Amino acid sequence: MSPATVPPVLLPGSTLGVMGGGQLGRMFVHAAQAMGYFTAVLDPDPDSPAGRVSHHHVHADYLDGDGLARLSRLADAVTTEFENVPAEALASLAGDVPVAPGAEAVAIAQDRIREKAHFSRCAEASGVPCAPYAVIEREDHLAPVPAALLPGILKTARLGYDGKGQRTVTTRAELAEAWADFGRVPCVLEQRLPLAGECSVIVARGHDGRSVHFPPQRNLHRDGILAVTEVHEGSLPAAQAQQAVAAARAIADGIGYVGVLCVEFFVLEDGRLIVNEMAPRPHNSGHYTIDACECSQFELQVRAMTGLPLVVPRQHSPAIMLNLLGDLWFAPVSGRPVEPAWARVLALPGTHLHLYGKTEARRGRKMGHLNITGPSAEAVRAVAAQAASLLGLPDSTAC
Ligand code: ADP
Ligand code: MG
Repeated sequence: MSPATVPPVLLPGSTLGVMGGGQLGRMFVHAAQAMGYFTAVLDPDPDSPAGRVSHHHVHADYLDGDGLARLSRLADAVTTEFENVPAEALASLAGDVPVAPGAEAVAIAQDRIREKAHFSRCAEASGVPCAPYAVIEREDHLAPVPAALLPGILKTARLGYDGKGQRTVTTRAELAEAWADFGRVPCVLEQRLPLAGECSVIVARGHDGRSVHFPPQRNLHRDGILAVTEVHEGSLPAAQAQQAVAAARAIADGIGYVGVLCVEFFVLEDGRLIVNEMAPRPHNSGHYTIDACECSQFELQVRAMTGLPLVVPRQHSPAIMLNLLGDLWFAPVSGRPVEPAWARVLALPGTHLHLYGKTEARRGRKMGHLNITGPSAEAVRAVAAQAASLLGLPDSTAC
């Protein structure tokens, strides 16, 4: 956006709208309200985590014209909290009110085919390639798939999350079968890479094109779902961290992104980085910033969309985040409903509990997270190990 089209700064007292009422919307609402903004959430669920804490809740489907009109009347600017909000809805809102991130950036992040094309275009500027891949949209795309892509992971181009909509395939026959099982929808087949680990970078970019970033996070996934994030000196080699930051910034610049963007990377066994995917919003791997940084990822989203200054968000404490999935609400052997041992966990130093207000615990459902801050990496790792053991989670310090 050229400086001439930079929207005026929206000061506290204005109303910020958010498309989506999940936990990311809820934490955004908390940050916006703490700074003196009013909030309006649009979500089809009458009892959504963000809708319940927002000043206004527009209870409507994402493409409902009346709902969108109500949101744009209430809000002075609008953002989104999950990438599967229809890009058309954002484009329609943008006719009435500033929207960040923009519909085009969200549309790219929603579609693995467009996302990978963007990463490939940026590879020279970003210095980091994506995994070798092939696009499969039609039957006749199956036969020419290079043998080097097998074993690979077939991923639906749209609507996948937390490992859903993907399957490992080792032969051409399995590939054809998996594609048929996915309903022959557009997919990408990615070479399965030998991962030594995963990391992500959260960037916030303003209307003026300036960006700031958090230190890169080291992430551990279990069953395709983020389980643990660690951010402290030594959690990633310095050169790798620098390379990831440069790549994330180039990827944001390449689409004129405005707002908070998370770029996820694979770390290969030989130390090389591969860009995996991007999320056009605050991200689960950035939740530690609430307690460990001078400015959280949610506050940066507020600042980016309102045109307030984007300060460099210094991390003041080493941090570990443990994701709290619905599985913790079921006893290990009997499967009976239980309440996790919060009082014992919160007796540990530097623990910060965040629960999202979801009334029903389901296995694999993100119910909350536990941030652990402390004076040193050793201290947070020791507390994380104790907390994990109290909660019945695998020892995160073993990763
Ligand atoms: P989602 O949208 O579900 O997060 P991802 O593409 O990030 O989908 O895949 C989920 C996880 O699966 C990754 O975090 C990684 O652990 C593993 N994975 C995905 N693609 C590959 C790959 N090409 N090689 C090895 N592991 C992969
Ligand atoms: Mg992912």
